[in-house]
Amino acid sequence: MWKVEGVVLRVRNLGEADRIVTLFSREKGKLNAVARGARRIRNRLLSPTQVFTHGQYLVFPGQGLHNLSQAEIVHSWQGLRDDLEKFAYASYITELLDALTVEEDPSEQVFSLLASTLALADQGRLKLAARAFEVRLVRELGYEPELYVCLSCREPLEDNLFFTEQGGMLCQKCAPQFPGSMPLSNGAWELLKKLLEWDFSKLTILHPAAKLEDELRKAMRKYLDFRLEYPLKSLDFLETLTAVPPGSD
Ligand SMILES: [Zn+2]
Repeated sequence: MWKVEGVVLRVRNLGEADRIVTLFSREKGKLNAVARGARRIRNRLLSPTQVFTHGQYLVFPGQGLHNLSQAEIVHSWQGLRDDLEKFAYASYITELLDALTVEEDPSEQVFSLLASTLALADQGRLKLAARAFEVRLVRELGYEPELYVCLSCREPLEDNLFFTEQGGMLCQKCAPQFPGSMPLSNGAWELLKKLLEWDFSKLTILHPAAKLEDELRKAMRKYLDFRLEYPLKSLDFLETLTAVPPGSD
């Protein structure tokens, strides 16, 4: 029997009344478990097995699928399910984590990052939460972008910078060797470093200009897509929702 603290990344229906729950837990990493009867009204597993819920779970390990037998909510994060934009961002964050991790490979740092990111998203700092999560997650998973010297010639970075999905920052001289590399402003570069280096709790004082945030979003999108085996479903929804209306700047 495992007693784990986890966040619900994904929920699928099983049979008449059951749910298959994908948790990211502090103790065991990602795991899939069946919550019997969890879709029945008044079932004690109904609320704690909703997507994004942070809770304590009792799991009985099995062959293949485990069984989730008891649960207690730590943070329901109801606000992330009630608001369409928050829901879209939280779906992206949890789907990205699901896509980049394998089962039962625990990481205390990844769990803490997930919990802190959902708290930031719940406060409505959605873009900041998504960008900080992306760059910190790839660091924890072992493929942090090179931000401090040119990826190719290893010279210090100064000005006229480029970014490649193949590994991070490039100087102007080396950029042509990396087809598809994109220019990145010094402002976006500085923002990226802050998102990675600062204490997570201090990130709320950052209020990046929309232009810098957008530049960073595009760079990280390329960086992540290069490593993902399949496109994320939540991205279509997020992009539709946040699309700039025609005619506006
Ligand atoms: Zn270079």
